[in-house]
Amino acid sequence: MSTSQEPSPAGPPRSLSPSRASDFMQCPLLYRFRVIDRLPEKPSEAATRGTLVHAVLERLFDAPAGERTPPRAKSLIPAQWDRLLESRPELGGLFEGDVDGGRLARWLGEAEALVERWFSLEDPTRLEPAEREMFVETELESGLRLRGVIDRVDVAPTGEVRIVDYKTGKAPRPEYSEGALFQMKFYALVVWRLRDVVPRRLQLVYLGSGDVLTYDPVPADLERVERKLLALWEAIQQATESGDWRPRPTKLCGWCDHQAVCPEFGGTPPVYPLSISPAGPSEDGQGRMGLDQM
Ligand code: SF4
Repeated sequence: MSTSQEPSPAGPPRSLSPSRASDFMQCPLLYRFRVIDRLPEKPSEAATRGTLVHAVLERLFDAPAGERTPPRAKSLIPAQWDRLLESRPELGGLFEGDVDGGRLARWLGEAEALVERWFSLEDPTRLEPAEREMFVETELESGLRLRGVIDRVDVAPTGEVRIVDYKTGKAPRPEYSEGALFQMKFYALVVWRLRDVVPRRLQLVYLGSGDVLTYDPVPADLERVERKLLALWEAIQQATESGDWRPRPTKLCGWCDHQAVCPEFGGTPPVYPLSISPAGPSEDGQGRMGLDQM
């Protein structure tokens, strides 16, 4: 599940989560808008459906193993949607104007289909997760703090650890799977540092397409991720001090909520809320560092 770090408003970044690390790799300016300016973003039906499905899959494990059936899981959807609306009332705006409730009903039906598909990929009657929605945080020797929320951790009687993440979208094509695995290796590194155990398996469960992607990491993989995160963090710190956050336009701009304040779309970013170091903007420009190639 995607997660977010929570720096105080208009404060410098203090830690890194997989989603924010991906933001910076995608577009440094997007990272700034989300982490430093904390600009609001409109909730989307797809992301909210993902949150709802995650909540249902988590809560299903409250039931005894034999009762973790598709009807039971689907019956949890209305109550979990109510809980979500209670904690984030702005989500109600997603279905504004939906007078006959048809759009909401269709959306809930899509959530049901995703929950149902899960049963063709995993058998919850045979699983007893050690952790669900586990918040993890660790500090590397360099002082960089890593944090995030792991959907599910399974621990075998032999002590082997499996990290599982649910995705409500479709599995990426093989040539793009490295990006999806980055988040899992990030979590594996955190678990390794916290528990001194390299997870045996990383498992991505794609409910949108009905695929399961697995990867068995070795220490060298996680050391590589650690080096990459340290380089990323250094670039983030340089940008924080210089105020030089470059836009990096890609086709993903189509999903960005901040086009109105993005120079690539004729906008002007808000006044930078942090003080800028006397050295001024770096000539290197983190936007050209090719972090995705590291
Ligand atoms: S519109 Fe594109 S370039 Fe501009 S901030 Fe968003 S992701 Fe970056």
